[in-house]
Formats: sequence, C-alpha cells, structure tokens
Amino acid sequence: MKPDLEWLKRNLTNVLVTNNGSSEPIVSTVNTTAPSGRTFFGHPRGLSTLFFTEMWERFSYYGMRALLTLFMTTATIESNPGMGFDVATAGAIYGMYTALVYITALPGGWIADNLWGQRKAIWVGGWIIAIGHFTMAIPTDFSFFLGLVFVICGTGLLKPNVSTIVGDLYPDGGARRDAGFSVFYMGINLGAFLGPLVTGWLGEGYHWHWGFGAAGVGMVLGLIQFRLGQRHLGDVGHLRTEKLPDEVAALSKKFFGAFSVFVATVATFAFLVSSGAIPLTVTQIASGLGYAVLILVALYFIYLWTAGGHTAEENKRMAVIFWLFLMIAVFWSGFEQAGTSLNIFARDLTDRTVFGIEIPASTLQSVNAGFIILLAPLFGVLWVWLDSRQVNPSIPVKAGLGLLGLAAGFFVLAWGAANATPDNPVSPSWLVVTYFLHTVGELCISPIGLSAITKLSPARRVGQMMGIWFVGAALGNLFAGLVAGQLENMPPADLFQTVAMIIGGVGIVGMLASQQVKKMMGSCD
Ligand code: GLU
Ligand code: ASP
Repeated sequence: MKPDLEWLKRNLTNVLVTNNGSSEPIVSTVNTTAPSGRTFFGHPRGLSTLFFTEMWERFSYYGMRALLTLFMTTATIESNPGMGFDVATAGAIYGMYTALVYITALPGGWIADNLWGQRKAIWVGGWIIAIGHFTMAIPTDFSFFLGLVFVICGTGLLKPNVSTIVGDLYPDGGARRDAGFSVFYMGINLGAFLGPLVTGWLGEGYHWHWGFGAAGVGMVLGLIQFRLGQRHLGDVGHLRTEKLPDEVAALSKKFFGAFSVFVATVATFAFLVSSGAIPLTVTQIASGLGYAVLILVALYFIYLWTAGGHTAEENKRMAVIFWLFLMIAVFWSGFEQAGTSLNIFARDLTDRTVFGIEIPASTLQSVNAGFIILLAPLFGVLWVWLDSRQVNPSIPVKAGLGLLGLAAGFFVLAWGAANATPDNPVSPSWLVVTYFLHTVGELCISPIGLSAITKLSPARRVGQMMGIWFVGAALGNLFAGLVAGQLENMPPADLFQTVAMIIGGVGIVGMLASQQVKKMMGSCD
C-alpha cells in the first residue's frame, strides 16, 4: 500500500534521531502521545492538522509543477509570455529541480532530528516554500530561479518531517498507524488533484505568475491552519535530543556554516556557467549530476559488500535493495515525465475542448492523483485478499509489474501520438488511459518496494537504505527531465515508443529475474 511510503519516511527520521550518538544528559524528554478527545475519521485530531498541512503543501508543489515545463517552453512573444526555452533545457531544469526536492529531504530530516524538532522544520520550511512561490510570481528570470531554490530547500524541510509527526501520533505503530497514513495519503493526493486545477486555470488562462502566486497562497493557508491546529498535536514534533542546548547551538552553527559555504560554491558555479566562463549547458550539468549520483551509489554498495562488515545473508539482501533501487529509478524516469513530455503532449497535441470550453493542459496533471484516490484503497484490499489465498505476488514480481504497467501506458500514448498533429489533435482519453495504467504501475511498485526496504535492510542501515530509496526517486526525476528533452530531436510517438520499449524491456528482465531475486531475499517477504 502506498501509505507505507510515509510510514517509512518516518522510520528514516527516527533512525537519524537514534543515531545522534551523544551520551550527554537528556535536556528534553517528550511524551509522544497525542491528546485524546474528538477524532478525525476515528483518528487523533492532530491527523487533521497534518492532513491539511500536507494537502496545501502538495497543492502548491503539484500546482506549480504543472505549470513549470509549460511556462519554460512557451515563447517569450506570446500574450502570456513564457521563458522561450527549448524542450531539452526545460527538461534538464525540471529534472534537476524535482531531483533536488528529494535529495534535500535527507538534510531536512537531519535538521529536524538534531537541531529544530519537526514542528519548527515544518513551520520554517512552509514559509520558505511560500516565499519561493511568491518570488516566482515576480516576472523576472532571476526571481524564477531563486524561487525554485527556495521551494527546493523548503520542501526538504517540510515534506519528510510532516510524515514523521504523523507516525508519532501513533506511538504503538501497527495497523492503526498504517490506517492513519492511508488517510494522510488521501490528503497528499487531494492537494495534488486540486493544485493543478487552480494554478492551471490562473496560470495558463490568465498569467503564469498568477498561477505561481496561487501556489504560494495555498501554502500560506496550510501554514495558518498548521498554526491554529497545533494544539491538537499534543507533545509530538518537538526536538528530542540528548544534547545540551549549548551543544545543539554549536552543532547548528557548524551545520549552517557548512551549508553557507556549499550554497556560495553552487551560486558561484551557477554564475560562472550562466556568464559562459564555464562552457557547460544545463543539459550537460544535469546528465553529469545523474551519472555522478549513480556512480556514487554503486561505489557505496561496493563498499558495503566488501568492507561493510555484513554477513553473506545481509549482503544478499542489500543486493536485492540495489536491484529495487535500479527498478524504481527506471520507473520514476518514465512516470515523472507527467510534468514534462506528457504535459507538452497535452498542450500541443490534445484536443482539450470539453462542452465548447478549452480546458488548460495542466488540468490533465490532476488525473494521476484522482486515480490514486480511487484506486489506492482497492489495491490495499486486493493485496490482502491475494495474501489470504496465498497467491500474493512476491516483491520483485510486483516491481516488474509496476514497470510493465508503466510501459503499457507509454505504448498507449505512442499509439495516440502517432495519430496526432497540431492541426489534428487527439482526444484527451489517450492521456487518461495512460495515466490510469501509470497509476496501476505506481501502486504495484512504489509503496511495495519502499516497504521492502525496511524488511531487507540490516537494522543499523535502515536510515541509509531509505536514503538510497530517495536517491532512486531523485535519479528517476532527473532522467525523466532529460528523456523528455529528447522531444527536441524526435517526434513524440517515437519518444513514447522508445520509452515504452526500454521500460517494458527492463520490466521483462525484472519478471525473469524475480525468482532469483526472491531467493536472495531469504525469509523476507
Ligand atoms: N506523489 C507522492 C507524494 O508527493 C509520492 C512521490 C514519491 O515519493 O516518489 O508524496
Ligand atoms: N501520485 C503522486 C503521489 O503519489 C501525486 C501526483 O503525481 O500527482 O502522491
């Protein structure tokens, strides 16, 4: 089930909490039990606070993301002018942006665990996100890029930590916590559903920057309700550390010092690239980043296998994690083209006239979230039912099925695109069916693979393995942007067919290898 994703994010941050390694006196012990009283669909009231906070955050994230590629690739001479970038440049920027949103979840979780506590991280992160969207509402190129940097940093602070508190509302864990995450997950997708509808109507219909501003307004509404609803959270989300306040302050100084040096280095690099002093294109930087991350992950696993001090059994299980990491990175590299190539297809090659009114292309960005709301509960029931009949497919088989579902979606789209021209656009049903198949694939691979990580990781490596899983999402997002950039060189039907064949091929390899991979999992299932 998808909700496991959030549960595991919670695990990641908890592991970081227990790993702070200090034996100093405890300065703040916190009872993580939420207050009793009125409930929210039978759950603690605090869940409603977090539900709406995350709903508004996702409203702003997916609302802005729906406009991002369209804005970058719209010509500067239109009545609602864009940035006039070619698709390859826009894809590379989109890929780097969405990848960094995932990578910053790692320092974001660390800051909450070691310096601020989750509540402060959410509060500060939310404002940074809102400031980012409002900065993007200013129509200059510089404010556009600065706004993206703010959203990246803010999301890294907010997203993993809001999930952590959800987990803390259920100190006993178990099925009740999973159910809590199911409700919470509906909040995520409600936001992802509503965001593009509002920002697309304003951004595509009137002015791009109004859409960006609307994303910021959504985030502010989320913050207001977070502040008002905090009283329902009981004692959860405060800093729990064994360090003395002075030590926390010193650690904070050290961290933010290093962070400033890092930001200054990146800013200098960006300046040198934009001024032409370093002769690199955005696409080259994005590809370089992707390959560097991939090589680092491979080296990390080689280190674990050779010098990590693990048993043969543990090494086998970590090999399965590496396998799942590759599968999920490939999966996201197709799936996350929703915001790029599929969005461009919706704009340029889809007849979006419904009852005589043309709907914005970004409206179709809501379809996946809508299907998740409808299908996630059904899939939850399906796995339990299959399990009761002892025919529940194994994790590697589900991963393969996820890729095959994704590939099927791309085949459908390639078929639709083959008949589409700007003068003779095709029905949006092609995209709706594609998104349906992509959602089915997502529900097979994403939550299941994630849940497998905690089962397969050696206990002292769970946090790191979760980090690897996030890096898989980051890599997938990055490559999704780069692959979509190929629209610059080939017709959409060819691109979608190539993507379908590669992902389908990896899916078949996944299915063929599944027996072997299952064996390597040992008793984990
Ligand atoms: N779409 C989900 C969300 O925004 C999950 C994305 C992922 O973890 O890859 O929370
Ligand atoms: N399905 C995504 C997430 O699972 C949301 C989206 O892509 O719109 O919540």
